[in-house]
Amino acid sequence: PAAGQVILEAREVTKRFGGLVANDKMNLSVHAGEILALIGPNGAGKSTMFNQLSGVDVPSEGEVLFMDERVGGKTSRQIARMGMSRTFQHVKLLPGMSVLENVAIGAHLRGDKGVLAAALHLDRTEEAELLREARRQLERVGLGDYLYEEAGSLALGQQRILEIARALCADPCLLLLDEPAAGLRHKEKQALGELLKRLRGEGMAILLVEHDMDFVMGLVDRIVVMEFGQKIAEGLPEEIQSNPAVLEAYLGG
Ligand code: ADP
Ligand code: MG
Repeated sequence: PAAGQVILEAREVTKRFGGLVANDKMNLSVHAGEILALIGPNGAGKSTMFNQLSGVDVPSEGEVLFMDERVGGKTSRQIARMGMSRTFQHVKLLPGMSVLENVAIGAHLRGDKGVLAAALHLDRTEEAELLREARRQLERVGLGDYLYEEAGSLALGQQRILEIARALCADPCLLLLDEPAAGLRHKEKQALGELLKRLRGEGMAILLVEHDMDFVMGLVDRIVVMEFGQKIAEGLPEEIQSNPAVLEAYLGG
């Protein structure tokens, strides 16, 4: 997609859980090549929104369009093929396996096959192709020296980056990250931030849900703020930082 083009768009997305409105007529768009952060206090509805945006869940009302196609109801494999890829809030690593195997298997399981079916249906050519792609993405994110280390031996920051390498397999143009900086040390956050900026430099659009304001401020192009399921502010980091409604949401609660 051309720089600046809208690639992901939520239109009046509402999500209800029984009587609870977790997302209330949410509108937002992600442009090609930008980093957009979705922030807000705990319980604001960020993860719910993330699930609607990534197609893991279907809105009660409204719709999400990726490259002008409706996301809701598609399988994760179909969505990955369209060029959108996500990580999960909790890193699901196979700690005893190598970094390279983790990325190759993760990329494969991203599709809708179960583990067993995946193992049974993979032929030698496909396996070699997966490993080649996994190596390529690990080198891209700077983990090329760790291919044969046990994944469980990596520091948390590196595990998070491994998870991003998984998401990069199949060359998405949009990456969705749920709280990528959670639990990381300062140096690890810096390294992660540098990686995300570098990916943006390669034309990648990134949407991240994040709780860590400091991490977001120095990194992203635009911010959408949620509270009680609704969008309460949207703008540049410096605008958001001085927005009274945002300060109230974070400090007043
Ligand atoms: P955030 O990620 O901003 O902390 P969430 O999207 O996880 O917020 O949650 C928003 C609200 O929706 C919360 O009140 C939460 O308890 C509720 N919620 C989230 N997922 C479910 C679910 N599957 N079933 C019922 N309630 C849910
Ligand atoms: Mg959440």
